[in-house]
Amino acid sequence: MAPIRNIVFDLDGTLYRNDELQREITSTAENLIAVSRGLSLAAARKLLQQSRRRLAESRDEEPTLSLTCLELGIAIDDLHDAFRQNVRPERYLVHDPVLQALLEALSASYDLYIYSNNNLFLARKILKILGVDACFFGLYTIEFSGVPKPDEETLQKVLSEISGPLESFLFVGDRVHVDLQLPARLGIRTMVARETADLLQIFQLLGLMP
Ligand SMILES: [Mg+2]
Repeated sequence: MAPIRNIVFDLDGTLYRNDELQREITSTAENLIAVSRGLSLAAARKLLQQSRRRLAESRDEEPTLSLTCLELGIAIDDLHDAFRQNVRPERYLVHDPVLQALLEALSASYDLYIYSNNNLFLARKILKILGVDACFFGLYTIEFSGVPKPDEETLQKVLSEISGPLESFLFVGDRVHVDLQLPARLGIRTMVARETADLLQIFQLLGLMP
């Protein structure tokens, strides 16, 4: 098997977890639904929850916020314009020296990438706050194809841009069906990570542990 050369990370929920930031993202979407449908905030919240539940039942997995908003007629561009204007990661996130040390060590031997449903503006901002913006070779955000994960066509585009055999990739994410299922189906190695401590397993997987 060819050695791993490229590690593709999800961002939100994988390199950090923060409930307050998540709440701000959700309430921005609720606001947008309220404005675009002429609903009260409470009614918009209920509609989003119902729509999420319906999608979860029909697909047998928790839908992404992007997909749920799409189902409610919100364009991805409008959703991300609202995120850029209203979501303030600097209110909630702080420098993570452990994450920084981990990713700096990895980036010495591997090319690290982000593949995220977030937009470039917020992804850059979040990476900078965490102290890891210099660790990444490339960022694939919603602007790359306009289609949120999971999406096979976008995944293929990401893989061909990075280039290299499938065995040279490792995908790391917090949601299996969003981040890992499609790459795994192609035979790519994957790893679930939901906190910085989980990321330590990468060193084990790569045989870097003493
Ligand atoms: Mg995630």
